[in-house]
Amino acid sequence: MTEEFLEEENKKIAQQYKELLRISYRRLTTEDKKLIRQAFDVAVDAHKDQRRRSGEAYIFHPIAVAKIVASEIGMDATSIAAALLHDVVEDSEYSLVDIEQMFGETVARIVDGLTKISSLKKDKDVSLQAENFRKMLLTLNDDVRVIIIKIADRLHNMQTMDAMRPDKQVKIASETLYIYAPLAHRIGLYNIKTELEDLGLKYTEPEVFKDILNKITESKEEQDAYIRRFSETLKEGLDKEDLTYEIKGRPKSIFSIRKKMVKQNVTFEEVYDKFAIRIIYKGDDQNEKFIAWKIYSVVTDFYRPNPVRLRDWITQPKSTGYEALHITVIGPESRWVEVQIRSERMHEIAEKGYAAHYKYKNTGEKEDEDGLDGWLNRLQEALENSETNAVDFVEEFKLNLYAKEIFVFTPEGDLKSLPKGATALDFAFSIHTEVGLHTRGARVNGKLVPLSYELRSGDQAQIITSEKSKPTSNWLDYTTTARARAKIKSSLREEKKQIAAEGKIILSRKLKSQKITLNEKVINELVLYFKLKTSLDLFYRAGIGTIDNKKIKEFATTRSNVFMNFIKNRIRRTPKTEDLNKDEITDKYDLLVFGKEEEKLEYKFAPCCNPIAGDDVFGFVTVNEGIKIHKNDCPNSLQLQSNFAYRIMPAKWVDSSQEEFKATIILSGIDNMGLVNQVTRIISNNMLVAIHSIKFDSNDGVFTGQITLGVKNRNLLKNVIQNLRKINGIEKVTRE
Ligand code: MN
Repeated sequence: MTEEFLEEENKKIAQQYKELLRISYRRLTTEDKKLIRQAFDVAVDAHKDQRRRSGEAYIFHPIAVAKIVASEIGMDATSIAAALLHDVVEDSEYSLVDIEQMFGETVARIVDGLTKISSLKKDKDVSLQAENFRKMLLTLNDDVRVIIIKIADRLHNMQTMDAMRPDKQVKIASETLYIYAPLAHRIGLYNIKTELEDLGLKYTEPEVFKDILNKITESKEEQDAYIRRFSETLKEGLDKEDLTYEIKGRPKSIFSIRKKMVKQNVTFEEVYDKFAIRIIYKGDDQNEKFIAWKIYSVVTDFYRPNPVRLRDWITQPKSTGYEALHITVIGPESRWVEVQIRSERMHEIAEKGYAAHYKYKNTGEKEDEDGLDGWLNRLQEALENSETNAVDFVEEFKLNLYAKEIFVFTPEGDLKSLPKGATALDFAFSIHTEVGLHTRGARVNGKLVPLSYELRSGDQAQIITSEKSKPTSNWLDYTTTARARAKIKSSLREEKKQIAAEGKIILSRKLKSQKITLNEKVINELVLYFKLKTSLDLFYRAGIGTIDNKKIKEFATTRSNVFMNFIKNRIRRTPKTEDLNKDEITDKYDLLVFGKEEEKLEYKFAPCCNPIAGDDVFGFVTVNEGIKIHKNDCPNSLQLQSNFAYRIMPAKWVDSSQEEFKATIILSGIDNMGLVNQVTRIISNNMLVAIHSIKFDSNDGVFTGQITLGVKNRNLLKNVIQNLRKINGIEKVTRE
């Protein structure tokens, strides 16, 4: 590199730096500028010998990231400085301690978070990758600015990926579509989300991307002409009202066109044919809502509206803070046109999200639990609670990121925002964890409904609680929100531990009668003998009765046999491990089930990765050959997951001996007071039996009942039936 070239480059760097200060969305004080200058100097020094793959000096990258942070996202000086420093600790001799000494604790903490994220192991294994995402999300714990700067970093990397190896491009692009775009969406960074998605598509499906881009360019002129015609008519009416406004066509992103084409199975023309325009007006706090409806009235004077397509996000903003009035009208040539009416303030929030939201937020106001802060709090809770496997967690988390919202009233008239598809039980958990955990029933619009009842916007919901109610595994089928599911799972785990504690006592008693003392050695033998993974698992089975006297006897016999030598050898070879106390229940996986409902379906194993029982797998719905099972770390997995997400069926291995089965029992007898009570008490006294449905009839003093139960094993069912027979007045109890 010639001296001349380097001189030229230094000039460019200085230019970029000046521009960074100029385009900042927030006004920078002299103090701010000093901080940014210092960060710039340190970054220049730290990266002085580094070049990017494209050949340019590395420092251009942190400056570009800082520019996105400063201008497009509109963050504060602290964030701009942290963005400039984001790769310093990872790439140079500067340590975190140095950063803290020079820039203080906040900047150091953010840089630390960013360094941790980028040093997470880059692995092809989907579950490891998901675990990384989870760890990354945990950095929200420290400061949401970490994630925001990370998103800016990712955006710039996506913008400058051309020089990279194609396989790396695809990997980074899928990861972007998988997690960064949804995150940007949820934080309210709509412009960045759109750009991430379009760039993601460009590298994962280049042909499709080019095709749509060409078509947009071709039809652009015609579109512009149509929107001009539409707007000119409107102008007549709007100008009479003496308003300051601007009409713009709303650009459609390539990714969203592609998504619609796939999802609705329609052509480009059919998607692109729907026009959208925006009317952005000047208004102040007092009249902003009033003007929106005034414009609504003008628009509908000229064009007939579709009444079911009215969305009033002004009266009730989305939880991301989005506000606008959306209507769809019939424009010239009878074509549907969506009109979005927004004030300048609303528009800024819609474009910039996070920063603008805070800029306009009145301080001193009560914290908005449903706003971004509320969301971050709930996210935090879900993360802290989550001991589930990382893939499930990220999947669930992602669902929540993109979920459309519904609004439900509490009995006090407060509004709660929930993701679409949320159930009465989700609502209970959204009120308070304690309410959720003790939910007995729910009333929606005054009527009793099942816990799985799917709520709709405008419903008024009320939760009935009882001290005795507690979560069962069925509750997982009744809930969709990450928050509720995390709470239920941790409560179920607690219960499992309780049962195991009782099981340990039972087991010790049973072994005693076989003259065996329960000690660590025996526990290890039992775990191996029953092909289990942990001691917890062993005790749990003793607790629910799957390991009964018969099995214990068998064990005792085998133990005295020569066969034991074999087992002993194995024990010697198996390191005496802390593994035994791990929360994982079993590795005796023998049954593959699909989806949240854990359905049993027909399937075949994919020849590309040949999964075996116990592998982390997913189902892929093929065109001609039904469901094929792939390993999560199958070489084809990322491509399948990112391109055909709608054909992926979550699947998991379960232990069939741990499954509960359903049984229906029929009762009859003489109808007397309190009978129903006694019946339900006997059943619900047993922790291991769940009531699925219950029906009682009474006719001329004769009582009949039908109860469907979920039980863990047949002995339990026998016990329940025997106890029911003892009730005074019951004549017959049979199993259907
Ligand atoms: Mn970077």
